[in-house]
Amino acid sequence: MKAVSFGGGVQSVGLLVLAARRVIPYRTFLFANVGDDSEDPATLDYVRDVAQPYAAKHGIQLHTLDRTTRAGETETLWGRMMRQGSRALPIPVRMSNGAPGTRGCTRDFKIQVIGRHLRRHGASAASPATVAVGISLDEVSRAANRRTEPYERVTYPLLDLGMRRTDCQKVIADEGLPMPGKSACWFCPLKPLSAWREMRRDRPHLFLRACSLEEALNETRIWAGKGNDPVFLTRTGRPLAEAVRKAQDELPFDVGCDSGWCMT
Ligand code: SF4
Repeated sequence: MKAVSFGGGVQSVGLLVLAARRVIPYRTFLFANVGDDSEDPATLDYVRDVAQPYAAKHGIQLHTLDRTTRAGETETLWGRMMRQGSRALPIPVRMSNGAPGTRGCTRDFKIQVIGRHLRRHGASAASPATVAVGISLDEVSRAANRRTEPYERVTYPLLDLGMRRTDCQKVIADEGLPMPGKSACWFCPLKPLSAWREMRRDRPHLFLRACSLEEALNETRIWAGKGNDPVFLTRTGRPLAEAVRKAQDELPFDVGCDSGWCMT
């Protein structure tokens, strides 16, 4: 089995165009949706309105995969955090010093979801699936950090082709497709301050929800006995509403991660 791990961002869509042009030999793309309430709404719109129809037109299967519980219900990352009585802090919240905490979100909502699909379709340690990941030349260090699971062999077609993020943008534009945004959960604490500022300006309703989430996570942390030290969604050591407003002219060199998500 051969499949592309599709995140819905620039590099993933670049791979989709390359597959449609038969530059790379992949006809199956797997999109692990962390939840309709968790994935960036712009990414969900792009996958539904642009990527899906484009893939279908070119005979490519683009599967959207949800995490399901043993009872067969869909579980979302937001839902896990907001469940009444939840003790879960699955996202990489920032400590007072700005360092991200441990996270289970990438493993549970992306790696395991894609892994289950691959294994259901025959992938195993004895017969691993080939999984292509959209890492471009300008973020090559991410390839070194990516763990390989026993049931997969990971390939990096963009590295093999020597393509950078800008090359992917050119391929997408040449194909006449709109440019996708950053693919990540809209509340991801790995998001750079510049992206939080854009959210506050352009999507204030989401920003307000993120502020509420930050408060809820701190309540969960205290309730779960994980300490009284506050945690944050930015690396500033300040509550989101305060940090983003005050940081607007303070941190011009803030770059953070580009694609923002966990690159599975
Ligand atoms: S984008 Fe951020 S919050 Fe979402 S799964 Fe990845 S690391 Fe976790």
